[in-house]
Amino acid sequence: MLKPRPSRVNALQKNILRWYGKNSRQLPWRKTNDPYRVLVSEIMLQQTQVSRVEQKFHHFIKQYPTLRALARTSRADVVRAWQGMGYNNRAIRLRDAARIVMEERDGRLPSDTAQLEKLPGIGRYTAHAIACFAYGQKVPVVDVNIRRVLSRIFRKMNNVFDLKPADEIWELAARILPENVYMWNQALMDLGAAICTAQKPLCESCPASNLCSSRTLYKNRAPGNARIRRSKKSEPMYAGIPQRFWRGRIVEALRKVNGEDSISLTKVGRTIKPDFAAHELPWLKRLAQSLIRDGVVERVKASRTTKIMLAKG
Ligand code: SF4
Repeated sequence: MLKPRPSRVNALQKNILRWYGKNSRQLPWRKTNDPYRVLVSEIMLQQTQVSRVEQKFHHFIKQYPTLRALARTSRADVVRAWQGMGYNNRAIRLRDAARIVMEERDGRLPSDTAQLEKLPGIGRYTAHAIACFAYGQKVPVVDVNIRRVLSRIFRKMNNVFDLKPADEIWELAARILPENVYMWNQALMDLGAAICTAQKPLCESCPASNLCSSRTLYKNRAPGNARIRRSKKSEPMYAGIPQRFWRGRIVEALRKVNGEDSISLTKVGRTIKPDFAAHELPWLKRLAQSLIRDGVVERVKASRTTKIMLAKG
């Protein structure tokens, strides 16, 4: 278990918060503590880059300004509004969470992390982010950036991809919280995004460098040398393209269909893959079934063909 000296923690907090005061990113969801807006931003940020979320956040909030408005919408419409974000099942889970909160909690998003984690699409990180950023609770927030930053600062890492186990970092993060928790959690995220990046940490410019156990690993390293090959996780592919992109293309094809119209699988195949051939139908069916399981797509039984559409729900 990591137990840093209080004097080191104090100095670190001071340095990092001072750096954040001058370098914080001006992000739209940092200008509010409205639980609904925090929820939307955190779900969007789960698997999408900050720059993309910045573009989409305002449009989404304009279309669904309240939890009530989101709860009332159909799955098809929320998936349409999610265009450009990828991982469409997040939109479904977000809408479903809004409905549960409206129906079972009188429209009030819980502030308790355990209650938050019971809602669709909300895991440990997102629950803590909502508790801290919306309700001002003194809880740690550990995303991939913060896990990396704290791993490096408190243990000498052997290479840029070394990380301490997540549970250990959650414990450590809880132990070193300062008074201004909101600012601290945001500061660690920004430090991980701008300075202590995954492959090329800029130790020379880092406000934590004189207190960091890993600074000598990266200091004075020529740009590019920090890259160490890691075993790539194999991602399911088809025709040289990840299956998740094909899923995204199916949803994109269905977004363009008017109203509640459906289209045949064969037509979907030709839309997403110009050289689509009949023998590829079983592959396409499996993809469509995975989208049906996630609640993004619905199957419509037609007389001779299988047709699909965005889920109405
Ligand atoms: S000194 Fe280097 S390794 Fe340590 S936190 Fe800063 S950027 Fe990361």
